[in-house]
Amino acid sequence: MTQQAEAVPDIRIRALTKRYGDVVAVDEIDLDIAPGEFFTMLGPSGSGKTTTLRMIAGFEVPTEGTIELAGDDVSRLPPYDRPVNTVFQDYALFPHMTVRHNVEYGLRVKKVRKAARAERADEALAMVQLEGYGDRKPAQLSGGQRQRVALARAIVNRPKVLLLDEPLGALDLKLRQEMQIELKRIQQEVGITFVYVTHDQEEALTMSDRIAVFNSGRIEQVGPPAAVYEHPRSEFIAGFVGVSNVIERDGRRYTVRPEKIQLLADGFEPDAGTRVEEGIVRDVQYVGAVTRYHVTLDRGGELQALTQNLEETSGEVLAMKGRRVRLAWRREQEAVIVENKEEMG
Ligand code: ADP
Ligand code: MG
Repeated sequence: MTQQAEAVPDIRIRALTKRYGDVVAVDEIDLDIAPGEFFTMLGPSGSGKTTTLRMIAGFEVPTEGTIELAGDDVSRLPPYDRPVNTVFQDYALFPHMTVRHNVEYGLRVKKVRKAARAERADEALAMVQLEGYGDRKPAQLSGGQRQRVALARAIVNRPKVLLLDEPLGALDLKLRQEMQIELKRIQQEVGITFVYVTHDQEEALTMSDRIAVFNSGRIEQVGPPAAVYEHPRSEFIAGFVGVSNVIERDGRRYTVRPEKIQLLADGFEPDAGTRVEEGIVRDVQYVGAVTRYHVTLDRGGELQALTQNLEETSGEVLAMKGRRVRLAWRREQEAVIVENKEEMG
């Protein structure tokens, strides 16, 4: 087995399994995460994301399987002997310590000298745009600022890998979206491998280099955001990472994303590369910038089409309810669904 140094992944997981009694929380997963990647584990609640992360961190011992960090088997090492740090949703800052002391804490444990500690803490605080906040106490910060402190604390000792478990889950939508951009920027600046857990598909799609979609303790698909979104391999993924728009034809199942579907104008004849389905608009949702049409197809089933409101008024789009329409999309916009688990590999 010859392997180049740069081909060694930061994290290599093989046949990783965790059982709690009869519950299989994580079911034989395999995963390679490259150095510097922003890698996201996406899936519904209870699908095994946190358990996987805790095994990588060392807080849980695998029932079976192995975890390597940069080529070293760490499966049985305690958390403090692994080159990883974890950021949790409840960021657990020490309330009696100043922000700077919170950030320095890990360095103090490692007996880093005082001057070097202060310098690196201030550097980490600058990285999360909190310079000047070092002397405050956590109670004097907003939720978003506290989360930044937690992040500074996690990157101050330059771990190889940072594990983040729904770190933005406690923030409101607007702040969460700002922090998504921030986190991505920080990750690119420090060059640390991020393993990010979320149940929020939009969060996964905006931030990640690659996404692993979890379902019932297994990984159903791994790939870049666009690949997972545009070519979901299962009906579960089609529905979880977007809207489940599934149609059957010639004994196969396909999915097509709502924004790829157009409503054809009367009399317009599409060319040969276009699929056309007829149906009745069952419902219309006007969402400001876009409109969502729920269309019951003549041959059974239902599709959603999403169109931009470029010229249309809300009155015009809402009047479509109950009308007969033709839906159209390019054939190459369809993705085949592979329901057979063996085929999925
Ligand atoms: P997620 O983070 O995707 O929501 P978890 O990894 O927390 O999922 O949980 C996966 C499954 O394992 C769930 O069914 C959960 O109830 C179960 N589980 C997690 N931790 C424990 C535990 N300590 N004891 C028993 N069951 C657990
Ligand atoms: Mg979890």
